[in-house]
Amino acid sequence: MLEVIFFESNQDLLEQLKAGNTPLVICPSPKVADNLRSLVPELEVITISKWTSDHLKNLGLTRSRKSELMIKLSAVWKHYFPNEKTAIFLEAFELFTELRSYTLDLELLGEFFKELDEIIVKSVLVFWTYLDQEKIIDEHLSYKKVTESKLHRSMWFIGFKHMSGVQIDMLKVLSEEQEVEVFFPRPVFQESLPNDWIGWMTEEEPKKSVDNDLQGSVRVAVLPKGKANIILKKFFETHNQYDLVFASTQTSLVSFQEAQKEKSFFKTSEDLFTVEIELLFIELKKLLKEKKQLTVEEMNSLLQAKKIEAGKRGEYRKYKIIELTEVAVKDYSEFQTIIDSFAFDIFQVIIRLNAPRVSILTLEKSIERSFLDVSDLDFRDDEKPTVLLATASMGGFRANEKILSEAMTKALRSIGPIKRAGLDFLFHKYELLSILAKKETALLIEEQVLEADLSWREILKNFEAVDFDLGIKYLIKKIQDYLTPKRKTGPFAQKNYSASKLQAFIDCPQKFYFSYIDKIDNRPEERASLSPDELGSLEHEIIANYFNKISKKSDEIDLDFHRKTCVEVFNAYLVSGKLTLSETEKARAYNEIMHYSWNGIVYLIDLMKTKNAKGIRFEVPLNTNQWNLVGSVDCIVELGDNKIVVIDFKRSSAAAGTKTETMEFRKIQMWVYLLALRQQGLEIESFGYLNLSDLTDMNLIFETEDAQKLMSSSMAPAQEIIEKAINDIQKIIDYIPAPRESKVCHYCSVNLFCLKGGACE
Ligand code: SF4
Repeated sequence: MLEVIFFESNQDLLEQLKAGNTPLVICPSPKVADNLRSLVPELEVITISKWTSDHLKNLGLTRSRKSELMIKLSAVWKHYFPNEKTAIFLEAFELFTELRSYTLDLELLGEFFKELDEIIVKSVLVFWTYLDQEKIIDEHLSYKKVTESKLHRSMWFIGFKHMSGVQIDMLKVLSEEQEVEVFFPRPVFQESLPNDWIGWMTEEEPKKSVDNDLQGSVRVAVLPKGKANIILKKFFETHNQYDLVFASTQTSLVSFQEAQKEKSFFKTSEDLFTVEIELLFIELKKLLKEKKQLTVEEMNSLLQAKKIEAGKRGEYRKYKIIELTEVAVKDYSEFQTIIDSFAFDIFQVIIRLNAPRVSILTLEKSIERSFLDVSDLDFRDDEKPTVLLATASMGGFRANEKILSEAMTKALRSIGPIKRAGLDFLFHKYELLSILAKKETALLIEEQVLEADLSWREILKNFEAVDFDLGIKYLIKKIQDYLTPKRKTGPFAQKNYSASKLQAFIDCPQKFYFSYIDKIDNRPEERASLSPDELGSLEHEIIANYFNKISKKSDEIDLDFHRKTCVEVFNAYLVSGKLTLSETEKARAYNEIMHYSWNGIVYLIDLMKTKNAKGIRFEVPLNTNQWNLVGSVDCIVELGDNKIVVIDFKRSSAAAGTKTETMEFRKIQMWVYLLALRQQGLEIESFGYLNLSDLTDMNLIFETEDAQKLMSSSMAPAQEIIEKAINDIQKIIDYIPAPRESKVCHYCSVNLFCLKGGACE
């Protein structure tokens, strides 16, 4: 039987673990295994990796490592695609390994493949076939093979933050013969989404609590920027036994050194080999340039000579790298006789994967405290008091998340759970909340981190912050009030009113002032990335260009024409804005605009088909009206007989707000459009915001029936609110900072300099 066991807290988990006989405990990593063992020494704990290898061994099988697979598949791929670039191979290989985590059944991926480039699909198929023919067992197939072992007994899975579709299948099969229980923190579950991996194992549905009660107080000391080392020294003088937790997911040696203190323990991984790899390949590439290509024999004798030389000189890191290169050449030469620049690129990736992992740790006779980061917190023995340190340079809890188009997400979502950065954050939040709930905990937070990092606001929202006096005098930069002296008194006459102007006024009079009276554009001319509004306009432009310029209308998106439009619009913008973005940033921005505009186009094609539309228009002006409302509607779909669908594009649901915000007139953009369009005699059939990042988010569209009901009940009050805002703008004297709610500050151009009506002091 497969069962999910929820626990409320680590203490609750501990009690469950200690109650009675425990079966085999399987956990995701050595770190979690160590923590569980030290919490409950009697547990029999094993990592999933060791557990799988042991069962494979009993079946007489072995699992191929990722690096082994990569070198073999690169050589096979080169045979089929001799002229394609290394980047294509790397993209296809990464995608291939990811797809195998969803399913081992190729047929299930048919829908997903429709969304991919042809070369990538062919590459993935070549890899898949090769693995099947050669009967190679990769990580994902190993989970299936494990179910064939007859040596299983009851088991608990503890500490998993993600499980792939293939792992979930494995659990289901295992549970037919023995008890399988998965432990999961209930507070994380309650905030999870139904499609998250845990939802695939339980019938229970998450119920987010709306409890806003305070959960207690937490001692908080705000630090001056860049002075964490001094403050920590002072802190440890009086709190010698405290463990220190860095509020970051990857803490480097430099950060740990910030907290220099004898009798402290820390461990951090260090990369000692990258430079050696770079240097070796600079030498090799020079040679390759002269010779164009090398035979395997030439390469081997070259490496042999270099190895002897490195040994004589005592360059042991270089020696190790040359040895790893020799192994890579050997594997590659099973399928290829020529070594070229493609092979060099692959060797470098492989050698990085296989280079020894090095950790730096403190060696002390006696240890009084540990320095940790949030990735060390899973099931840590938290008997000791803890101080948390958060500085701007730590980077917070950000996690990378792959951006997939809506169609890709939809195709994958039906096969297995998609990994989500938001769920990772919920786990960090759960661990941090359990630390903050202890009354001896202290939080040292650098000035302005609280204002700038939304994660901290989310974590601390139910705590009362109590000033923690460290007994030292230091100056916290009070945010100086630059804005009040700059503001002139009103009223300032306005010729017209756009929806965003009215919204800014309703959100906060000061925001309105610095956006429309004394305009502040704090965007630097030279910048490393595109702002959200720039990305949004590019996405709008691509969608409009696609429909306006495509010659052959169809029920399917024309992928080539879409790609061509994206490239044209994106490149033209980079050139006209004289922007020099890094390659990574360019790729990130391009990836977004391509997927988001794709989502928009697919949605509109579908909408036009369903509603049997007669036409579509973009950037439709509001025309003259009695309120002097100006602006243009992103998209109007014409249904004939003067009936229209009104659509506004948004990059995220956060930008659009919720349906309730529109219904309660806290967001008035749509009401402004409806008011002006109705005055033109147009009949509005339906309307709403289209969230370009997630087409499943249909929460923002008011479909026909709802739209009609809402308009008949709310058009009059909406008009009143709009007229009141116009009236107030005409009369206002003092543009005070009075945010309607805290989130309106996030998108405000003076956010960094604003005291927010004293709210953030
Ligand atoms: S940061 Fe907030 S309070 Fe300050 S002006 Fe902007 S919206 Fe108003």
